[in-house]
Amino acid sequence: MASGTALIYDEEMTTHKLLWSDPICDIEVPERLSSSYEQLRSYQLVERCVHVPAREGSEEEILLVHSLEHLEVAKSTQTMNEEELKRVSENYDAFFFHPSTFHCARLAVGATLQLVDAVMSGKVRNGMALVRPPGHHSQRNAANGFCLFNNVAIAAEYAKLKYGLQRILIVDWDVHHGQGTQYIFEEDPRFEGFFFFFNASVSHTFQVGMGNSDYLAAFFHVLLPMAFEFDPELVIVSSGYDSGIGDPEGQMNATPEVFSHLTHFLMQLANGKLCVILEGGYHLKSLGESVCMTVKTLLGDPVPQITGEMAPCLSAVESIQNVRAAHKPYWKWLAYEGKSPFCFVLYLEIWGFIFVLTNLLLLLLKDAEGNDFFSAVLGFILPVAYSYQPNLTVIAVGPNRSLGISGISLLVALLQGLAESRIFAVIEDTEISLMQSVAKALLGASTPPFGIYVPPTQEKVNKIKALRDQFQQEWKMLQCSGKLSDFIFNSYIL
Ligand SMILES: [Zn+2]
Repeated sequence: MASGTALIYDEEMTTHKLLWSDPICDIEVPERLSSSYEQLRSYQLVERCVHVPAREGSEEEILLVHSLEHLEVAKSTQTMNEEELKRVSENYDAFFFHPSTFHCARLAVGATLQLVDAVMSGKVRNGMALVRPPGHHSQRNAANGFCLFNNVAIAAEYAKLKYGLQRILIVDWDVHHGQGTQYIFEEDPRFEGFFFFFNASVSHTFQVGMGNSDYLAAFFHVLLPMAFEFDPELVIVSSGYDSGIGDPEGQMNATPEVFSHLTHFLMQLANGKLCVILEGGYHLKSLGESVCMTVKTLLGDPVPQITGEMAPCLSAVESIQNVRAAHKPYWKWLAYEGKSPFCFVLYLEIWGFIFVLTNLLLLLLKDAEGNDFFSAVLGFILPVAYSYQPNLTVIAVGPNRSLGISGISLLVALLQGLAESRIFAVIEDTEISLMQSVAKALLGASTPPFGIYVPPTQEKVNKIKALRDQFQQEWKMLQCSGKLSDFIFNSYIL
C-alpha cells in the first residue's frame, strides 16, 4: 500500500487579494494560506510531507464542471483595471476579482488535481492541498462566496474520467452549505450514482455554538454508516475550518483536535485514499492549528484527546434524526429505522476506572454476519467509547472469536481515535493472518476490504436501538433522536 502524505502549497495563490473596501469579503485574506503554511513549518510538518508542486488547471479541466461563459468572464478579468474589476465582482454574491485571480484559481484547481493524481497513482497515500480561492460555493455559471472554480467538484469529475472510478465520496465539513458542489452534481444527470456528497452545514444565523461532540455524533450516526455502505474508492474533503472555535464566520466551538478525529475516521475508507482540500476558515490561529491537526493525522501521528463534555446538543441530535429519517429510503443500514424494538436487557461491567466492553461485544457482535458489524461498532461501541474517553485502550481477542479479521482490524483502527492512540492488542490466537492484519492496523495501514455490503438484520438493529435507549442518559454520544428543528444538515445522494 502507498505511504506518505502529500502537501501542496504555492505562494503564488497569495497574490489574489481584495483591492477595495468590502466588509463581507475582507476576511478572505492571503494570510489564510501563508500563516497556515508557517504553522505547518513551525511544527516541522512540512519536511515530513512529500512536496508535490501545484500546476495551473487547464481550461478543459475547468470546463468539466463549469460553463464556457463562466470561464471566459474569469479569463477576461486578467487585464482589467480596478474599476472594471469592481464592476464585474458586483455581479456575484460575495466575490472579488484581482488581476491575478484567474491565475490563482487555475492554480487552486491544478493543485487539487495534482493531489488526486499523487494519491491515485500511489505516489502517496493521502494528502492536503492548501488552495486559494476556495471552491465549494462556486457554481456551473457563477462565482459565489469567495469561490471562483469548484476545485473539489472538478477533482471528482477528473478522478472519475481519468481513473474510471465508480464511487467517490465528497465530505464537506465547512460550516457553510457547499451549495455549489450540490448544484453542479444535482443538475447534471451524468453524475448520477457516482458521487455521494455529505455536507454538515449550519446556518449561523440561527444555530451557533456547535462543538466537538456534535460533529462526532454526526459522524457516528450519519456519515460513517453511510460511507461504509457506500464503500468509496476515493474520499475528497471540502475542508473548511470556519466551524473552528473563534472563527468570526461560523461562531462554532469545534476545537482543532476534532479535525484529527474526523480525518482519522475518513482514513479508514477507500483503502486510505484521502484528499483534503482547503475551503473556508477565517480565524488565522484556529485555521492554522486545525490545518496542522489534519496534516499530523494524515501522517499517522497519534490522535489527540478530545476536550469538553462528550454530549451532543439537542439541536444536533434533532438534525441527526432528521437526516436519518430523510435518508431511510436510500440506505440499507437505515432499513429498520423507526420500527419498535423488542425488550432487551444487558449489563455493562464497570469496574473502577475500567470500562469493559466485553459483554457488549459478545452480544452485539455475536454471529455478526456481514454488516451487523457496522451498526454495532458505529451505532453503539464508538459512541460509548467516546463518551467514556479512556486513557488506554486494550483489545483482547480470544480463540473463539465471532468477528472476522477485517472486522477486528477495523475496530483496532477506529479505536485509535481514543486515548491519544494509546492502544494495545492481546491476541490469543495463532492465526498468522489475524496477527499481521492487526499489526498493520496498529501501524495505521488501512484495513482489508469488507466486500459487498450486507445490510444489518432487523434483530440486530432492534438490539442496538434498545441498548441506545437504555444507556443514552449515561453515555450521551449514543443519542441520535430528539424533536424536529430547523437546523440545516444536508446530505445528498447523487
Ligand atoms: Zn465556509
